[in-house]
Amino acid sequence: MPVETNNKNKLKQPKLRQFGGSFLILLTLLLLLNFIVPSLFGPRLPQVPYSDFIAQVEAGKVDKAIVGGDRIEYSIKAETPDGKSAPQVFLTTPVAIDLDLPKILRDHNVEFAAPPPNQNGWIGTLLSWVAPPLIFFGIWAFLINRQGGGPAALTVGKSKARIYSEGSTGVKFPDVAGVDEAKAELEEIVDFLKNATKYTQLGAKIPKGVLLVGPPGTGKTLLAKAIAGEAGVPFFSISGSEFIELFVGVGAARVRDLFEQAKQQAPCIVFIDELDALGKSRGGAGGFVGGNDEREQTLNQLLTEMDGFDANTGVIIIAATNRPEVLDPALRRPGRFDRQIVVDRPDKIGREAILKVHVRNVKLAEDVDLGNIAIKTPGFAGADLANLVNEAALLAARNNRPAVVMADFNEAIERVVAGLEKRSRVLNETEKKTVAYHEVGHAIIGALMPGAGRVEKISVVPRGVGALGYTIQMPEEDRFLMIEDEIRGRIATLLGGRSAEEIVFGKVSTGAADDIQKATDLAERAVTLYGMSDRLGPVAFEKVQQQFLEGYGNPRRSISPQVAEEIDREVKEIVDNAHHIALSILQNNRDLLEEIAQRLLQTEILEGLKLREYLSQAKAPEELEQWLRTGKLSPDQPLMQTLLV
Ligand code: ADP
Ligand code: MG
Ligand code: ZN
Repeated sequence: MPVETNNKNKLKQPKLRQFGGSFLILLTLLLLLNFIVPSLFGPRLPQVPYSDFIAQVEAGKVDKAIVGGDRIEYSIKAETPDGKSAPQVFLTTPVAIDLDLPKILRDHNVEFAAPPPNQNGWIGTLLSWVAPPLIFFGIWAFLINRQGGGPAALTVGKSKARIYSEGSTGVKFPDVAGVDEAKAELEEIVDFLKNATKYTQLGAKIPKGVLLVGPPGTGKTLLAKAIAGEAGVPFFSISGSEFIELFVGVGAARVRDLFEQAKQQAPCIVFIDELDALGKSRGGAGGFVGGNDEREQTLNQLLTEMDGFDANTGVIIIAATNRPEVLDPALRRPGRFDRQIVVDRPDKIGREAILKVHVRNVKLAEDVDLGNIAIKTPGFAGADLANLVNEAALLAARNNRPAVVMADFNEAIERVVAGLEKRSRVLNETEKKTVAYHEVGHAIIGALMPGAGRVEKISVVPRGVGALGYTIQMPEEDRFLMIEDEIRGRIATLLGGRSAEEIVFGKVSTGAADDIQKATDLAERAVTLYGMSDRLGPVAFEKVQQQFLEGYGNPRRSISPQVAEEIDREVKEIVDNAHHIALSILQNNRDLLEEIAQRLLQTEILEGLKLREYLSQAKAPEELEQWLRTGKLSPDQPLMQTLLV
């Protein structure tokens, strides 16, 4: 929690706040008055339908009337002859403008007149003149107030950094787990700041800038907070995007202001989160002109400031980004962000440690095995694991359990991997059968392929967005590389669903679109990125632009049309061969496919021992070995008819 705001703003803000605040109150009061006044000065009169009014006039009961454009006030003659009861006053609303009204009134001896001009008197007049400018002035005061004090032009250049003091973030190093190397480096930096003399005595220079890089959710921001919690020095925290504003030059002014404050408070730490927002490579394409200008100026200012202070003043700048490759090279040269610390996705042991951190406040049942959960969650970052623990706890609460059991965690993992269960989506018989055979097709092929791990579960209960059924395959260990044959195996497994549909029904459904997309993408990457095609060789045809963010396409290098054609042919061949081997495997195991699918249709979910027993019966066809090794089917092997089975 921030203990104090920017101290300069603090001096200015309260005055203006008060001014704006009291102004708003005054304005509200005046507006209220405006509504209240008419009803104060004019008593509430009983409303009468117009027709009744005319009827009363014609009956000769009406004494006096004040006829306005949209209201008529009139009084009834006193009923009693001694005049004891006072005349009663009523109000009616005329229907349009009744031109006959004066005549009717005259005929029945009613005394009538138009209303005096301006019923509200001087207050109304005053309000109608004063209120509109007041409203504008009030809105202006309100906007300025929100801006954070001062006339806008004077304060936009103030840095928006929040200052934290020791312990105020509530995060300490033990709260960050699974990223031990990064932690060790940062602990060293905290030590620099706490015992600066120890280093300067020896003539060592304290590093100026540290860059944390890694995929999203791995704990970069958390690490920075932990440093703030441990360091015992002021900690300025700001996000890269907070420098950039609509106006050119604002960002640069903010950088200047930030460093000025930091130098005054040294020793201290300045943390810039999402550095890529302002540190993007200059001269690169993209962005409209104004935006680029602003960023460039801001970046230049940052570079200047980082050069401008001596290493031993005790200001250390830590920045975080998940896109280090877009950063301007000038940022990374020695003397600026010269230390780069990778905060990567945790391995199995790291995941277990992170889980331990997050279950500290969760009631766990005896059967929960965090090590086992860590095994089942390869590729999860710290944020995913935190989310997983919370999902499991929510599930346990929903089921009114006193503690979170292992089954909750398993269900939570499936939720994160495959989405929420959707039992409300009812499939018809044909669809259900198609989905069942499709999933069993994935499972049988997946069971025979190398390196992909065990098939843990097949289900025909719809889940998440668009998944009508799913097969979960769990790696048995963390893998950092994929070998050629494993890529082939993965492609064949992806095509297993569709192949099963072909074999069983002789026609395919739309359900394989996602599988086909993934298989093709993988085959393309094998050719254009991993250099796995014999014909094209180890040439990269794509430029990798995202190191830590997945799911963004890479642009192709400029290539000749012939090479493009060649790439397409190679990709198609890889996919075709994988498809053939998938068909061949399923034909070899036709009976098994039938048996498992029938069983699955009865139980909806197959998992654990029973499933393993089934899948262990799957037999590999002869050519599988050769295909895995070379990616090709043997030349004398006739290509199978695909659809006509
Ligand atoms: P990013 O790397 O994208 O900045 P964050 O630091 O914002 O990720 O992490 C988001 C949340 O995920 C944290 O608040 C924390 O709860 C959890 N988390 C991420 N990494 C870790 C970790 N290494 N140890 C413990 N919790 C973590
Ligand atoms: Mg972050
Ligand atoms: Zn599928």
